[in-house]
Amino acid sequence: MRAVAIDGPAGAGKSTIAKRLAKDMEFIYVDTGALYRAIGLYTLRKGVDIHDTEGVIGLLPEIQVDIKYVGDEQHVFLNGEDVNGLIRTEPVSMAASAVSAVPEVRTFLLETQRGLARRYSVVMDGRDIGTVILPDAECKIFLTAKPEVRAKRRYDELVAKGVKAVFEDVLEDLKRRDWDDSHREVAPLKLADDGIEVDTSGLELEESVALVKDIVKKKLG
Ligand code: C5P
Repeated sequence: MRAVAIDGPAGAGKSTIAKRLAKDMEFIYVDTGALYRAIGLYTLRKGVDIHDTEGVIGLLPEIQVDIKYVGDEQHVFLNGEDVNGLIRTEPVSMAASAVSAVPEVRTFLLETQRGLARRYSVVMDGRDIGTVILPDAECKIFLTAKPEVRAKRRYDELVAKGVKAVFEDVLEDLKRRDWDDSHREVAPLKLADDGIEVDTSGLELEESVALVKDIVKKKLG
């Protein structure tokens, strides 16, 4: 099985680019953030403080998360319930980021991610795919862009969906999540030693897709 790792901060375009890449190469696209979001959602539902490490650890035995494919699309199941439509909210983003700093949560999700990569050739996106989950991935991309650019993309997405949003709030949340993700002790967000950094700040989406495809195809031969 072959693997491409795409890591980077929120809003860098990982999922859009990884999806396009996967389709092109006929690999499976795996969005690992959805797994952390499912655990974040469960924590919120149970009324446990997202920063209460012991409380979050105590929930894990009650949780079963699974990724299934409905047509081309990845759906995440939380104890058998398809929660895809519920995990893209701002509170769930913050909860996912908080619970993802708990080592037990990361260990809990490790096998699900590696299992997928054993069964399928994957383009997997996340924060620690190239550094921890799939250290032997053939190609590791670290996709990034300036915070203002990423926040603007996120803001435009929200507005397009009809969600009321304030740009400064989106920027603030994004910066906070980036800081938390890159400063946690376990599996922090960082460029792998053999990773390739791609900054998409000045690029249109199609240009970013083309650039990443080019790098990956050269690497994979
Ligand atoms: O990628 P997405 O924004 O959906 O991820 C939500 C949160 O899950 C991230 O902010 C990060 O804290 C966490 N995450 C992680 N490791 C991954 C994927 C996501 O810690 N591989």
